[in-house]
Amino acid sequence: MSDRIRNFENLELKFLGVSSGHSDSHTNAYFKPDPETLVFIDISMLNIEKARKLLGWNLKRVIVLITHLHPDHASGVVSLAYAVKSVNRSVILEVVLHKNIALEATRMFDAMGGRESPPFGSKVEKGMPVYRLYGLDSVGDSDDYCFGSNGCTTSSTYLPKRLKFRKIDCLKEIISTRHSEKLRGAYGFWLEINGKSVVYSGDTLFISPFITKLDSIAYNYGSEKEAELYLDISVRHSGLHLNWDYKTVDAITGMLRLMPNLKVILMHFDDNKGFAKKLLQERIENEIAEQFRDRIMLAQEEQFN
Ligand SMILES: [Zn+2]
Repeated sequence: MSDRIRNFENLELKFLGVSSGHSDSHTNAYFKPDPETLVFIDISMLNIEKARKLLGWNLKRVIVLITHLHPDHASGVVSLAYAVKSVNRSVILEVVLHKNIALEATRMFDAMGGRESPPFGSKVEKGMPVYRLYGLDSVGDSDDYCFGSNGCTTSSTYLPKRLKFRKIDCLKEIISTRHSEKLRGAYGFWLEINGKSVVYSGDTLFISPFITKLDSIAYNYGSEKEAELYLDISVRHSGLHLNWDYKTVDAITGMLRLMPNLKVILMHFDDNKGFAKKLLQERIENEIAEQFRDRIMLAQEEQFN
């Protein structure tokens, strides 16, 4: 057990919450690629108070990478934007997602109050955005900022000057996956943090896009590369999330064999009462070969006072 805990201390991502949308611990992660930058992966309303505790006046950049637009992953964006402004007025929250969901996201966040009302009597017709939203392509590039209540635009008049997208160095790729039929898109991320490859699935029905990504990382950087795979996992057969079954176990153990410095971190548990965690822990003990067991872990929620 102590080894498991020690392993956690070295992981690149920390968690505001680790469970599903039906729990009181929505799965949202965060990390600091450098002392002046804070990056969230998804933000739910449920985690705003915790997120606020991480904000400081010394931050120059606060970014939220959004995997998809379900409420447990995106409902906190506008509140986070206001929280960022309240701590440091010169910092605007950068909301980063795949361009295929940028239009829906813009409308959703605008409807939640993503624009400040212009002062009474002002001639300005529309308010100023409290966040900037970037719709990127799969390799993390954007022609320009993307923001506007009529959809994405590169000629927005809302901002005082054209603000070019500032590349996020640690973001290497936005990985397309499948989650819910009703969603236009769901995405994971490949990040490079402190020399480690971090592959984050977001909510996903399939493991294959992320195994393919790790395969190519092993091919390009060498199989000894340090890596972390964060995986949405379900023991409930919900039809929306990756099932823990023999195919998943095969795929995970195959990667652990190929990459000796890979760790797999399971997240987005079905409940917050601990049943899913207990069941998963049992299945790891029973179904994973002993040599790989200490490299599979369950995500842990950070404690905030
Ligand atoms: Zn979801």
